[in-house]
Amino acid sequence: MKITFLGTSAGAPTRRRNVTSIALQLDQQSKLWLFDCGEGTQHQVLRSPLRLSQLDKIFITHLHGDHLFGLVGLLASRSLQDSIESPVTIYGPQGLSEYIRVSLEISRTRLQYPIHIEITKPGQICDTEMVEVFAAPMSHGITAFGYAVSEKTQPGRFEVERAKELGIPEGPLYGQLKRGETVTLLDGREIDGKSLVGAEKPGRKIVFCGDTTFTPNAIELSRDCDLLIHEATYMHADKPLALRANHSTAIMAAEVALQAGAKMLALTHFSARYEADTAQGLPELLAEAQSVFPNTYLAHDFWTVTVPRREPPTA
Ligand SMILES: [Zn+2]
Repeated sequence: MKITFLGTSAGAPTRRRNVTSIALQLDQQSKLWLFDCGEGTQHQVLRSPLRLSQLDKIFITHLHGDHLFGLVGLLASRSLQDSIESPVTIYGPQGLSEYIRVSLEISRTRLQYPIHIEITKPGQICDTEMVEVFAAPMSHGITAFGYAVSEKTQPGRFEVERAKELGIPEGPLYGQLKRGETVTLLDGREIDGKSLVGAEKPGRKIVFCGDTTFTPNAIELSRDCDLLIHEATYMHADKPLALRANHSTAIMAAEVALQAGAKMLALTHFSARYEADTAQGLPELLAEAQSVFPNTYLAHDFWTVTVPRREPPTA
């Protein structure tokens, strides 16, 4: 699982930061998922190794413009690339279908590939072979969701070489052994499949809370995650601004990570005020968060985080 931050600024872009979008690449599948799609996301994709031809799903947290205004342009540009026919599924709050439909209709844009729009509801919203996605309501003064991507436990590796050494004939028996069943060979030997299959690989979990002020729902959604991506629009000194606009301070984000038992916290969605003001800026915001949750990092545009596999539980 690999995350690339395509935009890390709140509200409006700055010289160094675009508005929100986060890319997720799942292992072993050349599929690209996006979380939010602020204006200019397609330009950011062009400046990265990511490819829109691989785009498979987009998850929109809420319908504020800085998380949404890049969506239709990105979909339209993808349609101009030859030979892209693979569908894109877009998840998001009520109102998303109308926004997309009207934008496409009025601009007379006809996409060359199908799109499916799924209105997000709390709970499991997506179940694929490898992962499940869960949504939970956030607290942002507008319908807003956080999304958790949970990888399913993968079966351990079947040790083909050892099976061959034991003289087990290839074929249907291998399937039974892979599933951990015990099989009886023609010569009477009994082989326990579990002895030929390595340890299961536990799934990883990443969570993106979108825009929100402190809410217990974010803690619940982020429970035991490997990576929590949380907005930190404001420093603690500006907490009144955060509360007024239903945003988070760095300390609020760190509290969520701490209480959820997250392994790592990546802060994003910073107010532009801290980039201009060098006396009191992002290093201080980071220090505030680290005073609560030490394993915290500041995201920047094009920062890529690879979430390592979890160690199998020791018996
Ligand atoms: Zn917002």
